[in-house]
Amino acid sequence: MKIIYHSTRDTKLTATASEAILKGIAPDGGLYVPETVPKLKISFEALAKMDYAHVAYEVMKLFYTDFTEEELMACINGAYNTEKFDTEDITTLVEADGAYYLELFHGRTIAFKDMALSILPYLMTTAAKKCGAKEEIVILTATSGDTGKAALAGFADVPGTSIVVFYPKHGVSRVQEKQMVTQTGKNVNVIGIEGNFDDAQTAVKAMFTDEKLAERMKAKGYRFSSANSINIGRLIPQVAYYVYAYSRLMPKEINFVVPTGNFGNILAAYYAYKMGVPVHKLICASNRNKVLTDFFETGVYDRNRDFFLTPSPSMDILISSNLERLIYEIAGESTTALMNDLKTKGRYEIASEMKEKLEVFVGGYAEDEEMAKAIAGLYKKEGYIVDTHTAVATAVYNNYRNKTKDDTCTVIASTASPYKFTRAVLNSIDPEYDQKDDFELFDELNKLSGVPVPKAIKDIISAPVLHDTVCAKDGLEAEVVKIYGL
Ligand SMILES: *Cc1c(COP(=O)(O)O)cnc(C)c1O
Repeated sequence: MKIIYHSTRDTKLTATASEAILKGIAPDGGLYVPETVPKLKISFEALAKMDYAHVAYEVMKLFYTDFTEEELMACINGAYNTEKFDTEDITTLVEADGAYYLELFHGRTIAFKDMALSILPYLMTTAAKKCGAKEEIVILTATSGDTGKAALAGFADVPGTSIVVFYPKHGVSRVQEKQMVTQTGKNVNVIGIEGNFDDAQTAVKAMFTDEKLAERMKAKGYRFSSANSINIGRLIPQVAYYVYAYSRLMPKEINFVVPTGNFGNILAAYYAYKMGVPVHKLICASNRNKVLTDFFETGVYDRNRDFFLTPSPSMDILISSNLERLIYEIAGESTTALMNDLKTKGRYEIASEMKEKLEVFVGGYAEDEEMAKAIAGLYKKEGYIVDTHTAVATAVYNNYRNKTKDDTCTVIASTASPYKFTRAVLNSIDPEYDQKDDFELFDELNKLSGVPVPKAIKDIISAPVLHDTVCAKDGLEAEVVKIYGL
């Protein structure tokens, strides 16, 4: 069966998988969604015998129906190998304190973004060929910290592409920033903005749907695409690891707990559920920026609130783009009106019959102190150290389990290596660590956890800063105009 994609705001705006990957976002500003989420056609017993690459193929072939087997396997083999990942499993399940941690950070930039961004450049260049696109693909990316580096690593020196990453200058960890500003490659640009992730994402989305800008780009031989999770080239590869995790454990039912920001990762879990993974609950974990917790509780999405910088910066988001795809599932044609409300009033409310369709979701949040306690508690009990984002999920899950007594087999998405947030992680275990410099902290974390310092960290310690441009939050387009001589 061929899967056709269409915009969440207009079912007549259709695209094949390759067109949707190449465009990133629909021309009306909506997100591409598959007409229906396909069902898995293979048994879990069969999947259980396959390695990661083959499970990924079984999932992705159902969504990217215009790719041949040869094309898709070439993309998969290019991405999921031991050159790009430090474990043959690609992702590892670790049992600790009554849950399984699905470690999604074994790629080159030690965050889960590598799971999709290691394959996106392959999908994108294959899609360009299939669509006969001749222009150089310009990847515009807004990052809350981790997408930026993973996209840079993926697209650096890939022929026919170039990339511009915008990150919140004062809203990422030291390691995250250093990783980005030291990126090598002839086709990479990294720019800090005097604003937060929502400012960056809004400006980037506006550029994608600006027809005049697209014409000026085209005249110079360029076209835009997106490496953010609005691109189905990002989203679908993420579905694979939920199917994979289930096939390793095969309980009767499973819960997934996902530390959430832009709602991409947990939406992938929802797609796995719709494909046939027997999910009991999808637990959406937020930090103090708990706009999603409130949404699942009340049916009101309201971004008119204070924005907080937290120790889990990749979740410091008030406009979760991918939620639009879930809204489309429950609201259909009303999606456009709801998204217009979000744009003009910063708020929308779904009807109660729509809310009933969200029963598989549970929202929860953790304050910074609860997150820190979760890190310390897990370390003391199990000797296992998780990063600050994963610890938000740990804290939310512990609260959920205490409250509901739900003993369903539970997998927590572990989204970054603790080395990426070393200072905040170690301070959670003992505030005394704050006296030490960053380099000493890497060694201390090594001593405590027994986990070797990852190559990603060793690489940035001595690397020179290559990017130091900073722009105002209304100056993103001017930077793009400058870089591409428009
Ligand atoms: C991006 C990110 C998240 C949030 O994921 P979404 O798909 O945006 O919800 C959580 N943790 C880490 C470490 C991340 O990099």
